[in-house]
Amino acid sequence: MTQAQAKIEEPTQNREIPFGRPWVEDADRAAVMDVLQGHILTHGPMCKQFEADFAEFTKGGTAVTMSSCMAALHMSTLHLGIKEGDEVIVPAQTHVATVHAVEILGATPVFADCELETGNIDIDLLESKITPKTKAIILVHFAGIPVEMDRLCAIADKHNIAVIEDCALAVGGFYKGKHVGLWGDMGCFSFYPVKHITTGEGGMLISKDEDTAQKIAHFRAFSVDRTHNVRKIAGVYDVTGVGLNYRMSEMQAALGCAQVAKLDRILSRRKENFAALKNMLQGAEGVRAILDSDNPDVTNSHYCLTVILDGKAGEHRNEVVKGLMSDKVGCSIYYPQPVARMKYYKDKYDTAPEEYKNAAVISDASIALPVGPHLDTTDMDIIAQTLKQKIASI
Ligand SMILES: *Cc1c(COP(=O)(O)O)cnc(C)c1O
Repeated sequence: MTQAQAKIEEPTQNREIPFGRPWVEDADRAAVMDVLQGHILTHGPMCKQFEADFAEFTKGGTAVTMSSCMAALHMSTLHLGIKEGDEVIVPAQTHVATVHAVEILGATPVFADCELETGNIDIDLLESKITPKTKAIILVHFAGIPVEMDRLCAIADKHNIAVIEDCALAVGGFYKGKHVGLWGDMGCFSFYPVKHITTGEGGMLISKDEDTAQKIAHFRAFSVDRTHNVRKIAGVYDVTGVGLNYRMSEMQAALGCAQVAKLDRILSRRKENFAALKNMLQGAEGVRAILDSDNPDVTNSHYCLTVILDGKAGEHRNEVVKGLMSDKVGCSIYYPQPVARMKYYKDKYDTAPEEYKNAAVISDASIALPVGPHLDTTDMDIIAQTLKQKIASI
């Protein structure tokens, strides 16, 4: 028996490895309690601080706190005036929020398949999807791997089409030294608990264009012309347009500031875990590919490590997932269906399966493995051994 086989047959482990776990420490808790010691729970200094801290981290742009990434995406499509009769190109493989932001306005999402190396939208397909009705492209930096934005933006510019970046999984993702979200017209981030940083629920919209960011900030607060802290006479304000309330609270923003303060630590842990796990799984039996980019211009933010399974393991992916779960190795599937195949979108658009072939491979044969800062390289070792064992037993 080879040494590798001997390792695979080691008894199952008992350490619990959650897929995602918010990294909340004393400093995070204290920041939230400080807000609650005072009386300003919204419209206050913490949202301003969080926006400033976030823009400092992304090294540019103007940041606007939001109640979620979905809210930021919705604000983006609304701001661009997208409406019924318009088409918007969306990734076939993404969170449904990316597509809902188009559908909710009565516009038509046009699905573009992804590449199998990165899970990102296949830029070579874009021009074939553009029609005179196309108003925007929304892309997702899949699992934290930045899209090659110069190539994508060149096509969008040529056809005078807006670009919205869904950066929900990509805090810390850079392309050619520029943070994701600053290439297109706007970038939308999520602070849902399993993402890189959390505020419970919450999001951020960033834009390289200050005017866009200011207009959206106004719009996401009822389009009221002045916030209560700049009103000369209490209670007196006017309304300059229609709007919504997609604001973040001060408690959330305080938590956000504490989280941004440790982003470098979070990202380096993720990078280290990802490299270790990739190294252990590369070329393993039943593993067809690991999503990543070898383009030196791409700085991956390592949201998770996505393995695409091969052969029998690929066909029985759910069995492999069940096996991992029974050994307390947390994992997930990003995303369980190409959006075009989800009931609502399938019933409405009945997109031909050839239009999302690669997206279907990722949905049906991949597993997202955790690399978050709650884990270390010992955990990576357990994840790799357990996965190899489960694949071997299929
Ligand atoms: C999580 C996620 C969202 C939704 O984020 P919320 O903050 O929960 O609205 C949107 N897009 C992608 C790619 C996501 O992974």
